[in-house]
Amino acid sequence: MSRTLDLEVIREHLEAKRRELLEGVSRARQVTSEESEAGAPDIADRATSAFQRDFSFYVSENEARMLRLIEEALARLDNGRYGVCVSCSQPIEAPRLQALPWARHCIACQELQDRGEL
Ligand SMILES: [Zn+2]
Repeated sequence: MSRTLDLEVIREHLEAKRRELLEGVSRARQVTSEESEAGAPDIADRATSAFQRDFSFYVSENEARMLRLIEEALARLDNGRYGVCVSCSQPIEAPRLQALPWARHCIACQELQDRGEL
């Protein structure tokens, strides 16, 4: 397997994932409006930030986070900074980017972050 990243393949992968998430959002939105017509539970205390009010209300926190990471990765593809660890500025390992094209950190920094040390 080539060590060289095919950025067009990465971009397609990211855009496909983004579409998938956005379709999930519109489905969730439909369900939510049906629920509120039927007398939904009080949602006011769920909205703890402007971002959540505007968007996360409709999706799980994980999906919202994933969507942000994907948008950021696409922006980095556009500005030529894709594939560089945001923490240590080293190139992120190619197999990691192929598995997780929205990764922001190299493996070493991700491990530190997972342990809360970053
Ligand atoms: Zn790093």
